[in-house]
Amino acid sequence: MTSVGARTTAAVFRSVGIDARATPPSDDRTLDLGALFSSGEECYPQKVTFGDFLRIIRGDDFDPDRTAFFMPTAEGPCRFGQYAPYLRQVLDELGYSAVPVISPTSQNSYAGIGQLGGDTFRNVWRGLVTGDIIRKMLLKTRPYETQDGAADKVFEDSVRLVIEVLETPGFSTGRRLDELVNALTKARDMFITVPAHYTTDKPLIGVVGEIYCRLNTFSNRDAVRQIEAYGGEAWLSDVTEWVWYTNWSQRDKLRRAGKRISPAMLAAFLKNHIQKRDEHRLLAPFAKDFVGCTEPHDIYRDVLEPAWEYLPADGALGEMVLSTGKAIYLHSKGADGVIDISPFACMNGIVSEAVYHRISSDCNDIPIRNFYFDASSSNMSRDMEIFMELARGYRRRKPVARQYPTYYEK
Ligand code: SF4
Repeated sequence: MTSVGARTTAAVFRSVGIDARATPPSDDRTLDLGALFSSGEECYPQKVTFGDFLRIIRGDDFDPDRTAFFMPTAEGPCRFGQYAPYLRQVLDELGYSAVPVISPTSQNSYAGIGQLGGDTFRNVWRGLVTGDIIRKMLLKTRPYETQDGAADKVFEDSVRLVIEVLETPGFSTGRRLDELVNALTKARDMFITVPAHYTTDKPLIGVVGEIYCRLNTFSNRDAVRQIEAYGGEAWLSDVTEWVWYTNWSQRDKLRRAGKRISPAMLAAFLKNHIQKRDEHRLLAPFAKDFVGCTEPHDIYRDVLEPAWEYLPADGALGEMVLSTGKAIYLHSKGADGVIDISPFACMNGIVSEAVYHRISSDCNDIPIRNFYFDASSSNMSRDMEIFMELARGYRRRKPVARQYPTYYEK
């Protein structure tokens, strides 16, 4: 979950009467407290998320009788599936056995969120989509702003607009979608008024990798800003990509279980269809801005299938297939380089790194580079300058041109 996704999800929970809040931005105390239950070497995101929960527990206003922790879970070759049971164990050890851990699972594509009532599941989805869209606008605007901080301010104002809609109780399904589209249209108008000079000379760097580390600015030391500091524009893989993947994965499992024609398959298709329809409406105000950088339309056709010969998605699981497939997709859209952000020692980054060399050589030698992060170090600032030079070199000879919105100056 990104910080925006956590805030929009909390807003949806508030709309059904749950006093929900996103954990505050991580800080050094996060790591100190997280280290009490994890070294971080086994899984850095676990240390950060546990540290943030422990900050809540250690807070002056912590009330165990009125607190539950929301920690989704997943299947696959990833320690994330152990966070919720481990959190349960830690809470028990600390004497908080009555504090619930609410944990919807990827096994049914997080359908458990719907049990919280109303249109919760659908609105959480809409919140994630709006968060992704607003962040994408931020990353498309900030590198070109001529007034420092203007894009970040509009980003915050935009997040507040959609949160107001998401937390309001009582809207019908259709009314909430209309209100979100209105809020996003206002957000788009605000971004467009950010003083900026849009040019076509900046290298476009795709950012893939482990979902938490690539999206959590604390964990990756604000890698996107480092790309921007070295003169680039970042195209960051979003959160919803993961949801499309779990939807595909759910249907794939049903197919393999011989349930190609079954009520479960019909329900999975319907859910996917409704989510697509909502996304389509929410994206509409940004049609002119996302020219040349639209996200994959079909996760199987655009991401998983092209990566199949390197990492087949029916054998390898999780972010590694998304990262490799997205690298190929980014190449096809005219990106000038791809970086993979992963926690130190995480198998996703390690497996992807093993195949990036082949992908790069099959994709006109586009530069692809892994950057690993943990609590103590990262190799990013040291190597980013070199990587950006490679990206500039590739940009001069690349055969796939990038498309730009009409308001970019040629
Ligand atoms: S992908 Fe790696 S770092 Fe991320 S949660 Fe799983 S094991 Fe941990």
